[in-house]
Amino acid sequence: MNYPSRLIEDAVGEISRLPGIGKKTALRLALHLLKREEQQSRSLAEAIVNMRIKTSYCIKCHNIADNQLCNICSNPNRDASIICVVVDTRDVLAIEATSQYKGLYHILGGIISPLEGIGPSDLQIESLIDRVEKKGDQPEVQEVILALSPTMEGDTTAFYLQKKLKTTGVKVSTIARGVPIGGDLEYADEITLGRSIVSRVAYD
Ligand SMILES: [Zn+2]
Repeated sequence: MNYPSRLIEDAVGEISRLPGIGKKTALRLALHLLKREEQQSRSLAEAIVNMRIKTSYCIKCHNIADNQLCNICSNPNRDASIICVVVDTRDVLAIEATSQYKGLYHILGGIISPLEGIGPSDLQIESLIDRVEKKGDQPEVQEVILALSPTMEGDTTAFYLQKKLKTTGVKVSTIARGVPIGGDLEYADEITLGRSIVSRVAYD
């Protein structure tokens, strides 16, 4: 496509690097911004840069956080005796939307996938074992719920985690199978996902 301006071409190029956005959509967004107040573009750019620079990860569960601890880990009303293991922050949002879970989380940051070269050491697994083993002034962790997608990678990861967790003696459960979650927890409807957490089963 021949753009009328090099600057628009640059903007379209950057915007279209985002997932799910093609050149056409990127051009529409760029032209939209061009028509609006200059301040809108400035606010957008600042919000993105601020998010990128200032957002960090919870030192305990690795969820996205504004402070050292995320909102969930720092909430005294959450049940610290249960940890729900998920792949990423989107899963936390999906489970939180069900209002059926009051425990804490642990974000793995990915899933074991030999095909993509992702092994256990690339994920936040050691820190999970650490949390489960940790005694001292921390309330004891009594149950770990594995909330992973029913895919081959999800099953491999669950199996690996269960083996590692066995040595700690903690109870390991998994969200009910047969949940039509289409591969990703974020696509599960809230009632189904909520029910599958409440009626979780022991992992064996
Ligand atoms: Zn946290």
